[in-house]
Amino acid sequence: MPQATAKLNAFPVFMRVEGEAVAIVGGGEEALAKARLIGQSSAVLRIIADAAGAELLAFIAADGAIHIAAAYDAAHLEGAVMAFAASGNEALDRRVAEDARRMGIPVNAVDRPELCDFFTPALVNRAPVAIAIGTEGAGPVLAQMLRSRIDRMLSPSVGPLASLAASLRGTAERLLPKGNARRRFWSDFFGGAPARAMAAGQLSQAHDAAVDMLLSNAPASGHIALVGAGPGAEDLLTLRAHRLLMEADVIVHDALVPETIVAMGRRDAERLPVGKRKGCHTKSQAEINALLIELGRDGKRVVRLKSGDPLVFGRAGEEMAALRDAGIAYEVVPGVTAAFAAAADFELPLTLRGVSSSMVFTTGHDLKGNSLPDWAKLAISGATVAVYMGRSVAAEVAGRLIEAGLSPDTAVAVVENASLANRRRFHGTLADLPSLEVRADLTGPVMTIIGDAVAGANFERSEPLAAHRHEGAAQTAAEGAER
Ligand code: SAH
Repeated sequence: MPQATAKLNAFPVFMRVEGEAVAIVGGGEEALAKARLIGQSSAVLRIIADAAGAELLAFIAADGAIHIAAAYDAAHLEGAVMAFAASGNEALDRRVAEDARRMGIPVNAVDRPELCDFFTPALVNRAPVAIAIGTEGAGPVLAQMLRSRIDRMLSPSVGPLASLAASLRGTAERLLPKGNARRRFWSDFFGGAPARAMAAGQLSQAHDAAVDMLLSNAPASGHIALVGAGPGAEDLLTLRAHRLLMEADVIVHDALVPETIVAMGRRDAERLPVGKRKGCHTKSQAEINALLIELGRDGKRVVRLKSGDPLVFGRAGEEMAALRDAGIAYEVVPGVTAAFAAAADFELPLTLRGVSSSMVFTTGHDLKGNSLPDWAKLAISGATVAVYMGRSVAAEVAGRLIEAGLSPDTAVAVVENASLANRRRFHGTLADLPSLEVRADLTGPVMTIIGDAVAGANFERSEPLAAHRHEGAAQTAAEGAER
């Protein structure tokens, strides 16, 4: 159903300025700002200023602009395709605007909208691509905020990719029939191998990949990005992860990745949850591998979204091996792993000068055997230990480490739902750790950090673990009241 949208009072257009004169009247800050903006184009700047400031003079020299160092005269506007009244002097700006209008030259008067034929946008410049942002009367702060947001979202490689596209357009039109085939080629060009090569700064590979696609006219090859979604907070997603999510045809995600992040993909992207939450595996690893291969063979752009970092307890090793064997292209995008998010929530230094200079990422699930794994020895020699998936083995971890010689008084920090608004922090000692296993109120993912460096954390917003040492889950209500 079509929706009524508000009407724009200023309509954006792109004006041809290559080699054309653009006149700017003024020698101060206003003129400098306009000169810098228009200086991003290939127009020839003509700056009319009898008293130009030092910065403007430096700009003129660097840009190769024409400087008319004389009192303003209407004749100075002759032949310009646009004029800016930027003198900072109301009477002069008005004169410039009136002259320009009489001469048929569109004019912009700085800070005087009533004298303007046009407004200048906030500009995201990825030449030859430009995104112009106009906010009419809302003011420059909003425009600048939007500008920097869009700037961050847009890969720097958009510009060179667009230039490459422009250079191939004629060939594509000769080789590919109009309609589906051509559209498909461009969609694969901007979303497939050429775009990826360009993003990696490989201009000639991007060119070759595009030419290959043009000549073979083969269906696009699929691509899988193993992407770290971070610990849960949306704004801890990397910009690259965000970009790939928005380009993906299919998003294959684990249960731990929050819905808000999965929703950041394109609206029409297919979303496939593959579970893997403790106790409710919806798909086996072999099934997930097979799914990724099938999607890749179908030519899909896939984001395989995993919580935290994909290479930390994410079974990415198996998925990458399967993709390699099947000859499907893939890449890995790192994410903020849970240990880092938990440490940040606790203001906990994972390495601490003079206390701890190494760190262990472990699950604690390897403590069941007779011999102590190497990481336990590292813990005893002072490493900070981050225990993933450690809730159900908390007692085992604490018992074995104490048995091996780590002091029961060693500091422990526990974070449930790190980085999220509903996070909870607990502190205590190794001797308190077994209580984690019996707490029924911990339903979110839990990160445990053990080591002397933990003593450097901020315990103002955490609850003691000790309250639960003997009483177990029955204590939960009392503990809740304590908070
Ligand atoms: N690849 C992930 C880890 C997956 S294993 C990463 O790099 O973070 C799953 C375990 O990660 C959970 O059992 C828990 O120990 C930890 N975890 C993931 N997200 C967490 C969060 N927001 N808060 C605390 N722990 C988390």
